[in-house]
Amino acid sequence: MTEQQYNLRVAHLYGDLMNTYGDYGNIIALRYYAQQIGVDVTDQLVSLGDDFNADNFDFALFGGGQDYEQSIVAPDLQRIGNEVTRFIENDGPIIAVCGGYQLLGNYFIMADDTRVEGIGAMNIYTENQATSRFIGNVTIKNSETGEEYHGFENHQGRTYLSEQERPLGQVVVGNGNNGVDGSEGVIYRNVFGTYFHGPILTRNGNLALRMLELALIRKYPTVDWHSKLANVTPEFF
Ligand code: GLN
Repeated sequence: MTEQQYNLRVAHLYGDLMNTYGDYGNIIALRYYAQQIGVDVTDQLVSLGDDFNADNFDFALFGGGQDYEQSIVAPDLQRIGNEVTRFIENDGPIIAVCGGYQLLGNYFIMADDTRVEGIGAMNIYTENQATSRFIGNVTIKNSETGEEYHGFENHQGRTYLSEQERPLGQVVVGNGNNGVDGSEGVIYRNVFGTYFHGPILTRNGNLALRMLELALIRKYPTVDWHSKLANVTPEFF
């Protein structure tokens, strides 16, 4: 097999509704690094009424959106929820941002107190806050890898993890998941959830390379992706 034959198929979940902060840039970042090691990245929008077959994808992006878009997406997501959960339980890598992150959990409460059901693919839940939002720059540190990630948060939801998940990082600067327990985002299997807006993988090349490696090892387990990716320089913005 020549290098050009490697490819990753990305599902952009509800990308026409949940892309408020240019989250598509996460796919561009993934492609940017993948091309450097001869891997093609193609993406496909999966939106309202579309089928989602977990076997047809190697990576997924579920971006951020506001309460309104989430309330439209949430019922449709129930329709494909079992397949999204199967993708996750089969170690499919997902980057889920803010509204998308919330919808993979058990439920979230909108600013107006309406409860919206998630698909419960992770045992997390999101409460609201009466009068304020968490807005500003965030820096977190992942305690397992020592990596730092930088981003910008803008959310009213306060997310809580269970013992089955671990945070993407501990807050160094900012509020993170809920402003109380010092956690930001989530890692569950190969799901990476976060409140970091804009393309987190563009800003944090170290995380992009980490997720790319997970996706490639899962799809092509006999190739030494770690060595190939060691020659790629992560970029930071
Ligand atoms: N419902 C979300 C909130 O907590 C929307 C977050 C987002 O994607 N900006 O505000």
